Amino acid sequence: MEKDVFCKIVDGEIPCYKLYEDNDVLAFLDISQVSKGHTLVISKKHYDNFLSISQEEMHKVMDVAQRIGQVSVKYLGAKGVNILTNCYEAAGQTVMHFHVHVIPRYDGNEGFILEMKNNADGLNLPSIAKQIQQELK
Ligand code: 5GP
Repeated sequence: MEKDVFCKIVDGEIPCYKLYEDNDVLAFLDISQVSKGHTLVISKKHYDNFLSISQEEMHKVMDVAQRIGQVSVKYLGAKGVNILTNCYEAAGQTVMHFHVHVIPRYDGNEGFILEMKNNADGLNLPSIAKQIQQELK
């Protein structure tokens, strides 16, 4: 099977601006820089996305994402940070290797827009809540 681009970065076959590395986690600048310091934090081992990674490795990746978010606010001058991970194409995932975006926010003119519109009209919230609750038991 063809290696994905992040497996190639882990294996040193594609260069990156590396920020952090340990046995399980790698963090590097996103090539697209939607804002200054836009970072990707990935598991070194291949998992398709957040929904399939082991809990232990996911926690390690999230720890590093949190630290980079803290550094962005403290040292890069960010006023806020979006931490997000896309799962599957329908959610905008383009690289099928688990990664977390750390997107520092400054003045609202970043190349990234997050808009949440209220779309609750016609939805049966008690029924939806019950369905999800049952699966979590
Ligand atoms: P996704 O849309 O899958 O959540 O995000 C994938 C991200 O990977 C994109 O923001 C894209 O700019 C970044 N990316 C894709 N190829 C490379 C690469 O070769 N190097 C780096 N540093 N980032 C990449």
